[in-house]
Amino acid sequence: MTETKPNQTTSPYTQESISTNEHPLGQSASEFPMEPPPKYDDARHSPAPVNRNVQQVPHVVTIVQPRFGDLSVQCTCPNCHQTIVTRVERSNGILVWLICGILILVGCWLGCCLVPFCIDELKDTTHYCPNCGIMLGKNKKL
Ligand SMILES: [Zn+2]
Repeated sequence: MTETKPNQTTSPYTQESISTNEHPLGQSASEFPMEPPPKYDDARHSPAPVNRNVQQVPHVVTIVQPRFGDLSVQCTCPNCHQTIVTRVERSNGILVWLICGILILVGCWLGCCLVPFCIDELKDTTHYCPNCGIMLGKNKKL
């Protein structure tokens, strides 16, 4: 038979709060004791200060666009990031009208001045992405 006694915790400490709120008004400030210099205990924990000057370099994705000529080119679309072959649309640019005007001035005004409008190599080309449809680049003759 073992008797289990309730564990009684008796605290021998008697809390006495001694509060001295006396403020001697007659004393001057020169009688305050000099404060000791603060102890730097951080040297034990980290001997070398860690310089957390992390410069985040933005990751710049540079897509080198090919030179857009008269024909379709294969490139990577900057919008949809797909490797596509550009869709080329031709339009009558300055060069077509300039040659047309020159032909009229030299006397070819009976239909020959319309020949530049049939020559695709004289026209401006605009390259579009066939996937998303954005304009990728232009190729102007003049
Ligand atoms: Zn695209």
